[in-house]
Amino acid sequence: MSTKQNKIIIAIDGYSSCGKSTFAKAIAARLGYIFIDTGAMYRAVTLYALEHGAIRSGIVDEDEVVRLLKEIQITFRFNPERGASDIYVNGDRVEGKIRTIEVSNCVSAVSAIAEVREMLVKMQQEMGRRKGVVMDGRDIGTVVFPDAELKIFMTADPKVRAQRRYDELTAKGDKVSLEEIEQNVRDRDYQDMHRAISPLRQAEDAIVLDNSQMTVEEQMTWVMERIAALN
Ligand code: C5P
Repeated sequence: MSTKQNKIIIAIDGYSSCGKSTFAKAIAARLGYIFIDTGAMYRAVTLYALEHGAIRSGIVDEDEVVRLLKEIQITFRFNPERGASDIYVNGDRVEGKIRTIEVSNCVSAVSAIAEVREMLVKMQQEMGRRKGVVMDGRDIGTVVFPDAELKIFMTADPKVRAQRRYDELTAKGDKVSLEEIEQNVRDRDYQDMHRAISPLRQAEDAIVLDNSQMTVEEQMTWVMERIAALN
C-alpha cells in the first residue's frame, strides 16, 4: 500500500486464540500502522484486580473492580524487540504477566463489567482517532469503530486454537495441560458471546477469515488483496 493512500482503521474481531494479535501485528508492520491489542487492556485490568484482592478463588467482586479502576493508569510503550507496544499499568510493565491461565480464567468476567468497558473503549477510540491503526479484540468492528474501513472476523477450529495457545504457553515454560487450555478457550468464547454489553458477534459488514489451515503469510496475502480492493 502506498503511503499516499489515506490511512484507514482495520478492525479485527473474533474468537479466543485465533491468532488475531499475531495477524494484526503483521499487518501493522507491513503498512507502517500502529497495532493495538485491546485484549491486553482487559487482561491488564484483570491482573490488577487479582493482585489487589478484587478476585478471590476465581470470584470477581465487581464493585471492588470498579473501585480499583480509578487507580489504574494504562499506557503503551513501543518495544523494538517485540516489534509491538508493551502494556504498562501505573508505570509497571505487565506484558509478561497478563497471559497466564489465571488471568485467562477471570478476564471474561472482568470484561463483562460495564464500567471496565466504558473506560477501555474510550481509550481505544482516542488511540484510533488519527486512523492508521490495526486494532484487535471482540467489539472493535461493532462498538469501538463501527465505521472502520475494513472489518475482519476471525475464526478457527477450537482444537487448532487450543493447540496454538498451548504451544505458546509451554514455550514460555508455563505448566498447563492442553485440556485446560481448550476448556478456557471454549468458556471464554461462550462468556464473550453471551454477555449483556458488547457481546462478541460478527459485524454485518465484516469479512470472515477462517485460518484453521492457513499460515500467517497466506493470511497476509488474503488481507493485502482486500486492502488493495478498498482503493
Ligand atoms: O484477545 P484476548 O484473548 O487476549 O482477550 C482476552 C479477553 O478480553 C477476551 O476473552 C474478552 O473477554 C476480553 N476482551 C473484550 N473485548 C475486547 C478484547 C478483549 O471483552 N475488545
